[in-house]
Amino acid sequence: MKRIVVLMGPPGAGKGTQATRIAEKYNIPHISTGDIFRANVKGGTPLGKKAKEYMDKGLLVPDELVCELVEDRVLQDDCRCGYLLDGFPRTIVQAEYFDEFLAERECSPLSVLNIEVGEDVLLPRMVGRRVCRSCGKTYHLSAMPPKVEGVCDLCGGEIYQRADDREETVHERFRVYEEQTSPLIEYYRERGALSSVDGSESPDEVFAAICAILGDCR
Ligand code: AMP
Repeated sequence: MKRIVVLMGPPGAGKGTQATRIAEKYNIPHISTGDIFRANVKGGTPLGKKAKEYMDKGLLVPDELVCELVEDRVLQDDCRCGYLLDGFPRTIVQAEYFDEFLAERECSPLSVLNIEVGEDVLLPRMVGRRVCRSCGKTYHLSAMPPKVEGVCDLCGGEIYQRADDREETVHERFRVYEEQTSPLIEYYRERGALSSVDGSESPDEVFAAICAILGDCR
């Protein structure tokens, strides 16, 4: 069976960390719309220039830019046995668009995993988050600092704070999440596609809960 997984959760819930693990265990590509936008910003592409205006303010990139991008990506050959979407859909319009795409192009059901965590836990996690400018590895100033301050353990690249992890931007991202993304929880619950895990646990415990939901690798 083709495995199509959507990972949801508020900003900073640990979607990226869990997505990497899920993709590895189930051998499916990890498609992060945020990563795709960041790569475009870095590469200075027209898409990147448009997306940056929204991203730096903590706002969502307009639906029409996101939907086409995702459709093109999931039609690529490496997605034929399944894929994991991290950060998409993020609005009801995107979810409806994706439902139509699934009905037309896919014959497998969707598993939506919602990582639940409160804002009080998330704010310090996000404001302390740092990322390697070269390889994208994430760190946390107190929970998982690099061995040498400001330098990536893996590649020696420079570690920095993403503009959208600054405190004022983080508050805006929570507001946007509540307003535009959290209605998707009900949307998928009504369709019987939603499972929730407690994201305040350790990354290992969250991953174990996710694997219990997704089942074995076949
Ligand atoms: P993320 O790394 O998933 O938090 O995404 C970083 C930023 O990229 C978000 O704050 C948005 O500005 C933009 N973005 C990522 N995915 C989407 C999406 N599905 N819809 C709209 N904007 C998105």
